[in-house]
Parts: sequence; C-alpha cells; structure tokens
Amino acid sequence: MAKTEVLTLVEKGEMLPLMEEFYTIQGEGYHKGTAAYFIRVGGCDVGCHWCDVKESWNAETHPPTSIENIAENAAKYSDTIVVTGGEPLTWNMVPLTEALKERNLQTHIETSGAYPLTGVWDWICLSPKKNKLPVTPVYDKAHELKVIVYNKHDLIFAEEQAALTNSNCILYLQPEWSVRDKVVPMIVDYVMKNPKWKVSLQTHKYLNIP
Ligand code: SF4
Repeated sequence: MAKTEVLTLVEKGEMLPLMEEFYTIQGEGYHKGTAAYFIRVGGCDVGCHWCDVKESWNAETHPPTSIENIAENAAKYSDTIVVTGGEPLTWNMVPLTEALKERNLQTHIETSGAYPLTGVWDWICLSPKKNKLPVTPVYDKAHELKVIVYNKHDLIFAEEQAALTNSNCILYLQPEWSVRDKVVPMIVDYVMKNPKWKVSLQTHKYLNIP
C-alpha cells in the first residue's frame, strides 16, 4: 500500500500504529484481576517524566495496522479489551471500537483525556496528567478516575480533578511505581482520612506479568 494511502487510513482511524497486543490480567483500578486483551496504540505527546512506556511516544516507530486485523485477533483471546497507549485518543477510536463491538466485545480505554473522546466505550478510565489536562467532556463520561501519585502535590491535583468528574466516578490514587516505597504510606494515610478515594496498585507488576 502506498505511504499516502496508509497515512490517510491512520488519519481516519482505520489503521492504527500498533505497539503491542497481549492477553493478560488487568492489574489496575476497578477491573483489576480480570483477564483482558490489551491493545497498546503508539503515539503520545503528553510527556510525563515518569512514563514507563516512553517507547510508545513516537507513533512512527509502530506499524500502521488495520483495525479489522486488530479486532479479529483480539476476539480470539478475550471478551474484555483494554485499549491503552501511548494516548489512544491521539487517534479516531470510532472504527476500532465499532469493529470490537461488532464482535460483542467489552471495550475499555485507559486515557489521559488530553484529546477529544472518540469511540464507543463500556468503561472509561481517566488518568489525567498535569502536563496536558483533559478535554472537559470526558469528566462527565469517566467511570473511574485514576490519579498517579509521584509526590505530595499530586494529592492536591487529585482533588482538583475529582471535583470535575461526575458523581458516579470511582476515585483511585495509584502510586507511581518507581517511587512506590516513598508514596504508598502517604497514600494509605490520605485514603484513610479521605475514604471517597481508593488505593489502586499496579498488581501486574507485583505478579511479574505484562
Ligand atoms: S500520558 Fe501515559 S503514555 Fe503519555 S507520557 Fe503520560 S504516562 Fe506516558
């Protein structure tokens, strides 16, 4: 296929830069412990300094892949599909989610919300980042808010973000992995004093699975 044709299809969301896809256990947030197929889409310009998937940032390093192929493959593994990144909302998610829905799959997204929400989602995990704040409408649609805590100021940021979400949104504080020993006691103390929050841990990392 000609390069310009590929670019047009990527622009429409009919092809996506696919970084990796794997069947594993969702380790974080509300659905932790659930077997799920992960689709990691390349491309992100949010620039979190502690990002653990910096290889995802440059979309050009990940092969443009047809969403039909992605959906067909995902359907072989699980009923629950988690689309993550990178920042998946860099791209139009309508074609991919429609292809997943045609196969009766549950669609979950992990997003910073930095770009407009596209696609059909059964579960939206909003993980806002200070560098590039969410685009407003996503706060109304988020099922869970997951704030990554790297330092004490992130607790203030978490409250600011929680104030913007809908009343059914489940609130999580999650230690950033590289500083977990330092921030876990602070999060535990905070959640005990402010029980509207729950602790989310990256349990897949403790289990040593992807
Ligand atoms: S939004 Fe996610 S993928 Fe993008 S830099 Fe931040 S942690 Fe990394």
